[in-house]
Amino acid sequence: MSVVARTLLGPGPTNPYPEATAALAQPLLGHLDPAFLALLDETCDRLRAVYRTDNRRTLPLSATGSAGMEAAFVNTVGPGDVVVVGVNGLFGVRMCDVAARCGAEVVRVDAIWGHPLDVDAVLSAHPAPKLIAAVHAETSTGIRNDVAALAAGKGDALFLADCVTSLAGIELAVDDWGIDLAYSGTQKCIGVAPGLSPFTINDRAWERRIERPQSWYLDLGMLGGYVGEAASSGGGRTYHHTAPTAMVASLHAGLGRVLEEGLDSVIERHAATGAALQDGLQAMGLELFAAQGHRLPELTTVRVPAGVDSLAVRGELLARYNIEIGAGAGESAATVWRIGLMGYNARPDIVTLILGALGEILRRS
Ligand code: PLP
Repeated sequence: MSVVARTLLGPGPTNPYPEATAALAQPLLGHLDPAFLALLDETCDRLRAVYRTDNRRTLPLSATGSAGMEAAFVNTVGPGDVVVVGVNGLFGVRMCDVAARCGAEVVRVDAIWGHPLDVDAVLSAHPAPKLIAAVHAETSTGIRNDVAALAAGKGDALFLADCVTSLAGIELAVDDWGIDLAYSGTQKCIGVAPGLSPFTINDRAWERRIERPQSWYLDLGMLGGYVGEAASSGGGRTYHHTAPTAMVASLHAGLGRVLEEGLDSVIERHAATGAALQDGLQAMGLELFAAQGHRLPELTTVRVPAGVDSLAVRGELLARYNIEIGAGAGESAATVWRIGLMGYNARPDIVTLILGALGEILRRS
C-alpha cells in the first residue's frame, strides 16, 4: 500500500515535513550519547527562541500536548487550590478536567464557543486564585484568546497558557506578556510529528510548585536532569527516563526550519494564508464560524452549508484531492468544518487548492 503524506487537519500533495522526516531517518542516537545531549541542548535553545523566553527550564516533554497540560497543573496545583479556567472550547474543558483531577477547586468561566474569552470576567472570577489558565489558540473553534491581557491582569496568581496551536503560528511572547507556564505540541505550526510537548516554566512558577506532585513521570522537579541541571543541586545530567531521541532530532530540525525562515516571517506567512483562505471561503458564500476579529489564521472554522453532508464532503476531499480537513468539535461536529493551514501548509498554493477543490465538490452537492 502506498501512503501519500498529509498533514493533520491539512492537505499535503508532497511530504509536508521534509527536514523533520529526514531527521527521523537518521541513525538513532542513544539517549546518553553526548551528541544527543548536545542536540537536546540546542533544541531547548530553539524552543526558547520560538517561545520568546529566557526561561532556563524550557524543554520538550516526552509526551503529547495533553501531557504538557497535565504537567502544568499537576506541578502547580493540589487539593483545595483555586484555579480559574477560561473555557470557550474543547481544550478549555480539558483543562478543567485535569485541574479537577489534581483536587483543585475549579472556577470555570465560560464564553460562547466561537467567541473569545471575556478577559474581565476571567480576571474577576475569584479574588485570589492560585492559577489562571486559558487556551491561546482554541483549535476546536478557531478562536484566538487574548492571553497577553489575561497574563497582564493575573495579579498574584500564576498564569498558564496552552500554546499547542499558537507556538510558531501567531504572535506569542512568553516573557514580555508575563506568562508563567506554557506548553505546546509539535504537530501543529512547528510542523513535526506528534509526540513531544514543548514546555516552559519561569522561576516564579518554579518556586511555587507543589512539593510532591501526584505524578512520577511529570514531576518537573525530577526532570531537571533531563535538561542539564540535576534535580537536587550539583548540576550535571541524571537519568530520568529514556528520551525519545529520534523525536527530539525531528523537533530540532523543524525548529531549525522555523528559525531559518525567521519567526516573524513564519507568523506573517500564517497570517497571510489564513486571511486568504477566509476571504476565499466567504467569497464562495460560506459563513465562517469564529467571530470576526478573533479568528486564528492557522485554523479556520467554516459552517457546513445547509443540506450538505459534512462527512461526504470531507471524504471526497481526502479521496480525490488528498486534502484532510476536520469536523467541528462538540456540538458543532456535523455543522462546522475545521481547516488547518499550519507550518509548511500555510502557503498560497495550498489555499488555492482547498478553495478550488471545495468549490468543485460543493457545486456538485
Ligand atoms: N490543546 C490544544 C489547543 C490542542 O489543539 C490540542 C490538540 O489538538 C491539545 C491541547 C492536546 O494535544 P495532544 O493531542 O498533542 O495531546
